[in-house]
Amino acid sequence: MGVPKRKQSKSRSRIRRAANAWRAPQLSSCQQCGSRVLGHVACPSCGYYRGRQVLTVEA
Ligand SMILES: [Zn+2]
Repeated sequence: MGVPKRKQSKSRSRIRRAANAWRAPQLSSCQQCGSRVLGHVACPSCGYYRGRQVLTVEA
């Protein structure tokens, strides 16, 4: 059976676990109305995505 040659340092293990840590979603501002929007998602307030109307939003 394959066995690690050296003990993994605490730093190494922690670096790996840090990759699985929860991070707040990155928000960008809408090009059309300026509200905060999730990336790769149409704006829920104006319905625009990449400068184009893709949703009909009730006023
Ligand atoms: Zn918008």
